[in-house]
Amino acid sequence: MDSHLYPTYARADIEFERGDGSWLYTGDGTPYLDFAAGIAVCSLGHNHPHLVEALKDQADKLWHTSNMFRIPGQERLADRLTEVTFADLVFVTNSGTEAMECAFKTARKYFAVNGHPEKFKLITFEGAFHGRSLAAISAGGRDNYLDGFGERTPGFSQVPFGDLEAAEAAIDDETAGFLLEPIQGEGGIRVFEVSFLRKLRKLADEHGLLIVLDEVQCGVGRTGQLFAHELAGITPDIMAIAKGIGGGFPVGACLATKEVGACMVKGTHGSTYGGNPLATAVANAVLDVVLEPDFLPAIREKGIKLRQKLARLCDENSDIFEEVRGEGLILGLKCRCEVPDMMAACREAKILVVGAGENVIRLLPPLTVSEDEIDQALERLSEACAIVRSGHGDVAKSGT
Ligand SMILES: *Cc1c(COP(=O)(O)O)cnc(C)c1O
Repeated sequence: MDSHLYPTYARADIEFERGDGSWLYTGDGTPYLDFAAGIAVCSLGHNHPHLVEALKDQADKLWHTSNMFRIPGQERLADRLTEVTFADLVFVTNSGTEAMECAFKTARKYFAVNGHPEKFKLITFEGAFHGRSLAAISAGGRDNYLDGFGERTPGFSQVPFGDLEAAEAAIDDETAGFLLEPIQGEGGIRVFEVSFLRKLRKLADEHGLLIVLDEVQCGVGRTGQLFAHELAGITPDIMAIAKGIGGGFPVGACLATKEVGACMVKGTHGSTYGGNPLATAVANAVLDVVLEPDFLPAIREKGIKLRQKLARLCDENSDIFEEVRGEGLILGLKCRCEVPDMMAACREAKILVVGAGENVIRLLPPLTVSEDEIDQALERLSEACAIVRSGHGDVAKSGT
């Protein structure tokens, strides 16, 4: 039967029935090692008992009230996020795109209320991905995402990745700040250097501009730091998060300093569902685990081990892989073969990975992945290399 879904995705022809930790199971019980984690969403793996309990408990009590009333879970989430970050104020959303939208509006409003409504533009970097709304595709600046959707939303200009001089040269009287992912996810696990981030922060300060970070993918423990910008020892003025904070439940947030966020007064923004009791119960449960003192150091340790093993895999399969990229458990393998072929081969070897720009496959395991599972991943990846080499990977079924 023809599908009645929008044909927007090249879906792989697999369906999963249940998940457990780092594993997904098809209806016939075939296990797949999940190094995609719903694109860095299932941060604590599948069916995590603490998250399941939090969701079920809340489901028995109250799902939704709207933001017309106080929502204790939302207040607690904001208290905790501000306690452990640069931020003082939080707006809770349902997705990464909405968190970005709130970030854009906050940056613009901040200058508007401070007598500079003309300063509404953000300078972004090539390879960026910030979501699929009209503003977000304009911020991302990719022609294939923009094509056919009318004029670009004004207020975004792009400079080459990591080019500080170009970033400085792009500043004009209308500039509000810079927008970037400290590690570009969709762009191909491209890591902005620590020195670049520090210089960009300095540049922004010198010009009275804001730094807006998109940590939707690289945040919430992925790098082994709670947020990726901590690796550079800088702080942003505004930051969007989502994906990992919900562990699979749709929730995101825009965080801001008090100075910047205070402009978003009554009536300036809103969301029907944003931060409802169900979503914030789960997000708080994710934080319970991620903020355990041993959790982040374990990610750093596992990340180093995985990276070393991937480096060896690259050496042993230098006809297939060019290099390893990334930090912690947000890693990429740049391929010499076609990414759809490699993804199909990985599925055949029963490991799930995610494609990305620059001919990279992303490895985004649950942050709870075990060392034994890391070893199994390596075996499966090397099997996938053999499948690609023999040319019998099921390319026809390849998704993105
Ligand atoms: C996924 C992603 C988004 C968009 O998030 P949605 O929840 O899909 O709206 C924005 N920025 C980055 C860096 C992302 O990875």
